[in-house]
Amino acid sequence: MDFWDSDELAAHRDAARAWVEANVKPEWVEEQRRTGCHQTNELHALLARDGILAAGWPEEYGGSDVDPDFARTVFDECAQLGLHFDGWSTTTMVTHTIEHVGTDEQKRQCLPAALRGDMLIALGYSEPDSGSDVAAAKTTAVRDGDEWVVNGQKMFTSTAQVCSHVFVLARTNHDVPKHKGLTLFLVPTDAPGFELQPIHTLGGQVTNATFYTDVRIPDSARIGGVDEGWNVMRVALVYERGVAGPASVDQTLSEDLTAWAREARRPDGTAVLDDPLAAERIGRMAVDEEVSRLLGQWMNWRASKGGVPGTEGSMRKLFWSEMAQRHYSDALDILGAEGVLAPEAADAPAGGMFEHDFRAAVVTTVYGGTSEILRDIIAERELGLPRNRPGR
Ligand SMILES: Cc1cc2nc3c(=O)[nH]c(=O)nc-3n(C[C@H](O)[C@H](O)[C@H](O)COP(=O)(O)OP(=O)(O)OC[C@H]3O[C@@H](n4cnc5c(N)ncnc54)[C@H](O)[C@@H]3O)c2cc1C
Repeated sequence: MDFWDSDELAAHRDAARAWVEANVKPEWVEEQRRTGCHQTNELHALLARDGILAAGWPEEYGGSDVDPDFARTVFDECAQLGLHFDGWSTTTMVTHTIEHVGTDEQKRQCLPAALRGDMLIALGYSEPDSGSDVAAAKTTAVRDGDEWVVNGQKMFTSTAQVCSHVFVLARTNHDVPKHKGLTLFLVPTDAPGFELQPIHTLGGQVTNATFYTDVRIPDSARIGGVDEGWNVMRVALVYERGVAGPASVDQTLSEDLTAWAREARRPDGTAVLDDPLAAERIGRMAVDEEVSRLLGQWMNWRASKGGVPGTEGSMRKLFWSEMAQRHYSDALDILGAEGVLAPEAADAPAGGMFEHDFRAAVVTTVYGGTSEILRDIIAERELGLPRNRPGR
């Protein structure tokens, strides 16, 4: 692959920066931090209006003629500002899944609605007793004529509070091995019997527990075959790892920290940056950030070639999430005791940004697949090593 921006990509970057400059309100970054909601619907509507959500999709499903590289660059630029698109990321996983396994009617209805920005879909896989082992889901869907009746509870249904639907993994058959009795459904969040409760995480992000009490949905809301949910979910999971966000945590920490360390003084009056140990740690961060950036570029390059993503998204997500935890821990060491002052504290260094991002980094190795699960995937699919999980 070519590691440098081609003239065309550089032009996209300029145009994307201009788009961001014209449309993105800086207060959205602060709002996402304050509310913990990693999806800004006002921004989403603008991305839909300008065909950016619909870039790369066939016209018959509502695709636009916006260049997918331009669209990717817009998301990249927004992410650099600290904006998250978690609701759109999960929606994209489901729309790609519908593209692969949906009925013609689902493709005609759901895909244009999502690309118009009218349909946002949260993922309802995890449950209180089944996280990594998603196949052990206990939420049930029981057929009743042309309808299904859903009962159960999901954990960590992120962005459900702003989504129109949840992609719910439900047990439809108890008489077969656990991964063979599952089915996926699109459950509207305004359906009677659907409820949610916010879960505040250490990093400030707010996710949700979602509850389903006799929620009735039509059979047309079933995505894929009955008891075929495991295979359907595997398509979605490939896309989850393939679209692992470009910068869920700040990737320019070394620059931010250098700027701070140049000005900040130790008690003896010397600049923090004059401390060789601090400088060495910041240097190592810069090297890691470059590796992470290149892994992201590789992931995007593979995505631009079309087809189903491979393991490159898992590799990138594993690298940057573990990198983020190391880096913010180093950053707090360099900042000293005051580094743990929260953003609200008047004398917090750099406005408490490092402390906030340190906390935010903690959950990055859990969502979107834990590090252990990602290592399994890379070992199995990239290196051809044997499976270490029984029963799949
Ligand atoms: C902030 C946040 C947002 C999330 N958003 C969503 C969402 O929108 N939708 C959704 O469905 N889920 C979501 N999740 C769930 C997430 O994707 C993880 O799958 C889930 O949290 C892991 O399950 P668990 O927490 O029950 O941990 P467990 O699965 O119980 O794992 C505990 C530990 O055991 C390790 N472990 C488990 N199995 C194995 C194995 N086979 N081999 C080696 N080690 C193993 C894990 O790596 C982990 O370290 C979210 C989680 C968080 C924290």
